[in-house]
Amino acid sequence: MPELPEVEVVRAGLAPAVTGARVIAVEVMDPRALKRHTPLGEVPGSAPGEGGHGRTLSTEAGRSRAADFERRMTGRVLAAPLRRGKFMWIPIAGESGPASSAPEPTTALLAHLGMSGQMLLRATDAADDRHVRIRTWIEHPEHGELRLDFSDQRLFGSLAIDDLVDAAPGTIPAQAAHIARDPLDEHFDDEAFVAAIRARSIGAKKLLLEQRLVSGVGNIYADETLWRARVHPDTPGASLSQRGAVTLLHHMREVFAQALAEGGTSFDEQYVNVNGQAGYFAHSLNAYGRGGEACPRCGGLIKRVPFAGRSSHFCPKCQRKR
Ligand SMILES: [Zn+2]
Repeated sequence: MPELPEVEVVRAGLAPAVTGARVIAVEVMDPRALKRHTPLGEVPGSAPGEGGHGRTLSTEAGRSRAADFERRMTGRVLAAPLRRGKFMWIPIAGESGPASSAPEPTTALLAHLGMSGQMLLRATDAADDRHVRIRTWIEHPEHGELRLDFSDQRLFGSLAIDDLVDAAPGTIPAQAAHIARDPLDEHFDDEAFVAAIRARSIGAKKLLLEQRLVSGVGNIYADETLWRARVHPDTPGASLSQRGAVTLLHHMREVFAQALAEGGTSFDEQYVNVNGQAGYFAHSLNAYGRGGEACPRCGGLIKRVPFAGRSSHFCPKCQRKR
């Protein structure tokens, strides 16, 4: 599942191709990929036949949702893509493009990659990738025409046009407004984060996964951060020293930086960059997915235990429970 480094690799890959590009046409092949898109004048979740996160939708509701999305995207000029945590968005600049006199964008194309969502940049005559749900043709002043294909095998991801709300500083899509800044954000508040986790009695891994405390961390990077910091996943936040909590944050940034440099983790082979290529950070994982293997630090065996419907991986020797 894409976490912060994977989404950031995609954002950075899209930036040169979409910034300043005009949307020529949009084709929604599967309206289930618009589960988080609400047509103008409709209340979220109110479409006929809509169930469980919009994964089911009546044919008519699907058609009207697709038509609304296509109409509101076509002819618009896209601004530079942005990201917070695992959310990525492309502000929609208007019909004439970003100009000093143009008003600030009020909406954005919001992408949530879910489990297997991919944003692929392809030549207009390239062969089809598998599971393409939404196809957008764009024209960039320098790069010419390109296809931006949203592919998603498992359909937990989606695209949506969302309103931008104030996030002082800056703006953020309303659907992402509830999450904290991520540790690569220059406005992330280190002191507030350290104080918040030290005030909580729940386990360190659960705290790292709380998107209201820090965004972008999922199962893989939580396990890797805790391994690097030598913290047991169940260590209560309140029992971390000030220095221990600061060190945890340091290791989180370090693991993100290395994963970014290595193109992200393609552990389940469903994450690829905008060119369809896998990242290679999976080879650098020390704990995640390594249950039963030797700990690269102490040689003890990495343990795998059930955690919230999935697994935690840690070294019982160098991550002792306090
Ligand atoms: Zn160890």
